[in-house]
Amino acid sequence: YVELMLDGSLGEITTRQREALRVVFNKTQTLTRLVSDVISLQKAEMTSLDLGPVSLIDVVDLALRGAEVAAREAGLTLRRDVLPDLAPVLADRARLGQVLDNLIGNALKFTPAGGSIEVRVEDAGEFERVSVTDTGIGIPFDKQQRIFEPFYQIDGSSTRRFGGAGLGLAIVKQIVEAHGGQVGVSSEVGKGSTFFFTIPKYQLGSAPLHTAGQQDRFGDRR
Ligand code: ADP
Repeated sequence: YVELMLDGSLGEITTRQREALRVVFNKTQTLTRLVSDVISLQKAEMTSLDLGPVSLIDVVDLALRGAEVAAREAGLTLRRDVLPDLAPVLADRARLGQVLDNLIGNALKFTPAGGSIEVRVEDAGEFERVSVTDTGIGIPFDKQQRIFEPFYQIDGSSTRRFGGAGLGLAIVKQIVEAHGGQVGVSSEVGKGSTFFFTIPKYQLGSAPLHTAGQQDRFGDRR
């Protein structure tokens, strides 16, 4: 209805009313995002993983495609560095997509125009390792562990420039650890950050393909 009012479908509105409605519209979007993040975190705790063999490269490509428009608008270059012939991983495809969307979303948010974001996929023995490197504002060393806590933000002030609720990385950590992988970050203030995670490779017989997830409840592995 706010959108209908804004585009004049419900009758003429004054400039002041339009400005007020824009504020309502923006705040509503912020709230919607917050609710969906909270639900996502809750769901990650409650639900099981739907595990199967997944090509990490496909998931990375999908996430990069989804970020193209935002990157262009922000004046950022997206890069991809993946080895061909990587083995599939044992994962929940949708959850893995969410991990990448969150990490790439943060890289877009915390990197000034002119910078770049690179997603890399590497072989790491029994695991595959994905890293998202940006040339953004960086994270002070003493904050690098706390950012994975729910609601923690380095600049949590009401005047902060960046949107978000501080839940993205908590969701990332929860999903990756539920897969039996690990997350981490290395960063230098003013230079940029690299967030990485590992996911176990799929091995034949390592999980049922169709009933996958039933016995793999989140939390049981922690
Ligand atoms: P949100 O992005 O919603 O604030 P996150 O849990 O995703 O929440 O991130 C927590 C905090 O970690 C951010 O508020 C920011 O201070 C810091 N952060 C995350 N990613 C980056 C990044 N790529 N570069 C710099 N700081 C980051």
